[in-house]
Amino acid sequence: MSIMKQLLKPLFIIFLLSMAARIANAQANFMKIENYKVYYGWAKHFPQDWMILRQFENEGKKYFLLVNPQTLQTKIDETNFYEVKSLTMQEARAYYKDTPYQRALNDAEKQSVKIQDAGIEGGMPKESGISLTADLCPSRRPLDKRIFTGIFTDFQKVEKPVPVALSITGIWMLQHPNDLEWLKQMQQKGEIYITWINHSYNHRVSKSLPLKENFLLEPGTDINFEVLETEKAMLKNGLLPSVFFRFPGLVSDQRLVYRITDFGLIPIGTDAWLAKGQQPEDGSIVLIHGNGNEPVGVNDFIDLLRSKAPAIAKKQWLLYDLRESVGQEFESVEIK
Ligand SMILES: [Zn+2]
Repeated sequence: MSIMKQLLKPLFIIFLLSMAARIANAQANFMKIENYKVYYGWAKHFPQDWMILRQFENEGKKYFLLVNPQTLQTKIDETNFYEVKSLTMQEARAYYKDTPYQRALNDAEKQSVKIQDAGIEGGMPKESGISLTADLCPSRRPLDKRIFTGIFTDFQKVEKPVPVALSITGIWMLQHPNDLEWLKQMQQKGEIYITWINHSYNHRVSKSLPLKENFLLEPGTDINFEVLETEKAMLKNGLLPSVFFRFPGLVSDQRLVYRITDFGLIPIGTDAWLAKGQQPEDGSIVLIHGNGNEPVGVNDFIDLLRSKAPAIAKKQWLLYDLRESVGQEFESVEIK
């Protein structure tokens, strides 16, 4: 063996080990998260530019939560793989201003005055179909698995994994470890790909308070806790946080929308809450509840799948990845 090869061999093994470690990270459960904080910056690992959203430590290693501002894909990675420049949120937003990610944040802010259903409501897909979002608000009832079994049957030969977005709360994760495990298994088997939307930790709701003081607008709400503890709970459970947020009850005011976009999160509304009789159109962001509390919406969704079955079989009606449909909507559209 030449001297060069002898020198290179250990390096190559280190390279392989680090690659293996990085692949393992994709599904790691970060059980000992410390110093979890909002941290913005630019991170480069050739050939891709990422925006840094969070920084944390786990068992002596430092990690970033990163977003690709072009595709809205996120990932967790060790900090030492990157060339890093720390930025304020304003600097980061100026630097990435021509990306779909920043355009989506701007658009959500433009619609922030509405008390209900602020945020992105629907994309503009090139073909027919919808993006499915199912909310997992706190609930004593089990996961409504009919949503997923319906999808598996209809999309079996058409689209695999089928993209779905689930809005998850910290409390639901605590209440339903087995259901969560089942969802993760379906993802590992390649049946579905789940985009995890932050739906707050506690999802407080009052039967008597008016909307402007209800849900996250209830006095005494700790927004930092609601956002960041949910992300930490996701990471602990081996879920990858996305850049999306859904307001509990779809209730927010302008100030709250800006609090959320300040975390780098894009509020996701809906233009088709099925249980409220809203009809989905192509490009709709459909809302149903997966927590067992709204079987009517799930029935409507199953009826929708049934009515589209011939089109699904011909790949003429599909479920779209929320990241792609929002990304495509803001690919080239200038915000007025
Ligand atoms: Zn909810």
